[in-house]
Amino acid sequence: MVGLVVVCHSRPLARAAVAFASEMAQGEPVRIEVAAGLDDTTFGTDAVAISEAVTAADSGDGVVVLMDLGSALLSAELALEMIDDDQRERVVLTAAPLVEGLVAATVAAATGADRAEVAAEAAAGLLGKQTHLGDQTAAAEHQPTVTAEVETTVTVTNPHGLHARPAARLVTEVRAFDARVEVRNATTNSAWVPASSLTRVATLGLLKDHDLGVRASGPQAQAVLDRVTALAAEAFGETEAEPEPEAAGNHAASPGIGIGPALRVHSAELEIPDVPSRGAQEEQHRLDEALAEARREIGRLSGPIFEAHLMLLEDDDLLTDARARIARGEAAPPAWQEAAARVATEFDALTDPYLRGRAADVRAVAQQVLRALLGVRAPTPTGEGVLIAADLTPAEVVALDPSRIAGVALADGSATSHAAILLRTRGIPAVVGAGPQLLDVPAGTTVALDGSTGAIEIDPGREVLEEFRARADSQRERRTEALSKATERAVTKAGVTIEVGANIGSVAEARAANENGADLAGLVRTEFLFLDRDSAPDVDEQVAVYRGIAEALGGRRITLRTLDAGSDKPLPYLPPPAEANPFLGVRGLRQSLAHPAMFAEQLLAIVRVARETPVSIMFPMVTTVDELKAARRMLDEAMAAEGKPKDLQVGMMVEVPAAALRASTFTPYVDFFSVGTNDLTQYTLASERGNAALAYLSSGLDPAVAQLIDEVCRAAGDKILVAVCGEVAADETAVPRLISAGVRELSVAPPSVPLVKQAVRAV
Ligand code: PEP
Ligand code: MG
Repeated sequence: MVGLVVVCHSRPLARAAVAFASEMAQGEPVRIEVAAGLDDTTFGTDAVAISEAVTAADSGDGVVVLMDLGSALLSAELALEMIDDDQRERVVLTAAPLVEGLVAATVAAATGADRAEVAAEAAAGLLGKQTHLGDQTAAAEHQPTVTAEVETTVTVTNPHGLHARPAARLVTEVRAFDARVEVRNATTNSAWVPASSLTRVATLGLLKDHDLGVRASGPQAQAVLDRVTALAAEAFGETEAEPEPEAAGNHAASPGIGIGPALRVHSAELEIPDVPSRGAQEEQHRLDEALAEARREIGRLSGPIFEAHLMLLEDDDLLTDARARIARGEAAPPAWQEAAARVATEFDALTDPYLRGRAADVRAVAQQVLRALLGVRAPTPTGEGVLIAADLTPAEVVALDPSRIAGVALADGSATSHAAILLRTRGIPAVVGAGPQLLDVPAGTTVALDGSTGAIEIDPGREVLEEFRARADSQRERRTEALSKATERAVTKAGVTIEVGANIGSVAEARAANENGADLAGLVRTEFLFLDRDSAPDVDEQVAVYRGIAEALGGRRITLRTLDAGSDKPLPYLPPPAEANPFLGVRGLRQSLAHPAMFAEQLLAIVRVARETPVSIMFPMVTTVDELKAARRMLDEAMAAEGKPKDLQVGMMVEVPAAALRASTFTPYVDFFSVGTNDLTQYTLASERGNAALAYLSSGLDPAVAQLIDEVCRAAGDKILVAVCGEVAADETAVPRLISAGVRELSVAPPSVPLVKQAVRAV
């Protein structure tokens, strides 16, 4: 493949131009070297740096050099004098405009064009703009070369027309065929231009609803026309082209269609044991503890409804009544229940329908406190249908039965919350953040939801229902096709193999990963073994589970992440310290290092299993090299005790922006990096991952996060594998960008594995 070199006075400018152009390369890893600036902030050009860049960019097919102005040209010419004669012959200095030329050259190089073609594409980089602005003299006439054998017309549906990205997709795909292809804007009756030239396609000014004429000749003429027709139907890869109408705030959380009667969780009346008071002081203390626990649970949710719930926990009338009953000799549970029932009945008697409706809030909060008092878990739904709830804890999601729950609609929550992750893992379609009005839907009402778009329909008519069913059918077909190839490797069109792994938290999920063709377990969330119980699992129990996971995956590699507890995953037996910002607190590796005895046991278990089966170990939430070294020292101790496994790969998660920016300082101590985009996004954008009001900040691959991933890949070079195991790895629109950054492993929820493999194959 032809390499490119960008010579420019400013290093940030050159890097930005490269990042921009790389986005257009449709995931093909084009080699682009930068020789720009004297350092990160000083303008200038340097012939030695340019000659080195040329050598680095040349894989034998030659190099095209793009320059800005002035001394850039002189330095580039001087650089050519510094390299070997035979290499010099393979270098073309082009007068192309830097940005437009680089974009055009990158797309051409990505499709395997030779250096003359790449240079010509670059030099024609201004054509699109010139034509658009009416500079006809500049737009050189293209002599039609195709004697059309076949011809067709397709319609452009992209909201912004065939702009650079979809145009680049068209050019890239067309060039892969053995055919000569020309296109034109049939709506404006433009001239025919070669479809292999991005700059020419850009001159067509194709807007939404314009007709694109396509004609082709050669052995694959019909095949290329069919492909362009299919591409147009997919809006040239712009999947978000025509978003489904959806209620503001809804977030697509787990793909799939869910249709069924609304299921509400009905708590069976809690039975209050007839136990006498243990004394006013002790009973008041019990009530205070239960109130605090309910406050903590509600505090994890967000939105006005939950604020109202919190206020009820502070309500003077309610608390004074309960206190008085306790003082009169009642035990805490009946005192609380009676006081809450009185307040709820008073709300029932109000004439204003809104206020009357608040009785339900009082009863919900009262139940929550009562459950805390009695140590009873939240109820799980019975029946089949679409579950409607305010929010779910990870433990509640785990308790759901996917064969009965057609979908989940939550009033609160965001797509990267742990509840949403678990819903995806379990293949339950879900929409979150739908707002408190969702909670007014009566049980039994028909609900249809689309977990890919966030659409929810309450009591839909027949037509809408049929449309949802049709969507479900087409998704099923796509899935069936992907599943038929699930066990095959995922290889890009350029021949780059991408490992597609599964994120799992149990043996059952490992089985699901195996059924979905996962190449490995790219992330085992070991904390799910530690949550929701009274004490930590011992070494033997851990060994049994890790071994079970490896066996369920047929002995393929498992990546055991050490305990990632704290913040939204607190351990009941290690109560968190009082922290104002638990997500910025003692969590992940920080917590493990603070509890060395428990950490040492986990490391022993991991090392023992690694002696039997291929294992990678990785540490979550690493911020500094010292933390990583401390963890590695403890791992060494475990290996000294158990014996050294033959092939234990050691890695770290990159979830903290500081670790991404300084990735090069970690490289001496790791075999791989695994980027946790869920946390990396929340820390980069300062937006808590479970907060529904901020979910708009964490949907998809944010450019700032993409830049951090670039930084990690740059530091990793060829020797260290970079994986992505955050939710964005399953976002088909992000896959090409991640691969072009240098990511070589993607790990996703088990049901997403076959679709992500297909997405890789399309790159
Ligand atoms: C992440 O943060 O992206 C990640 C994979 O870890 P978790 O979602 O378990 O925090
Ligand atoms: Mg994380």
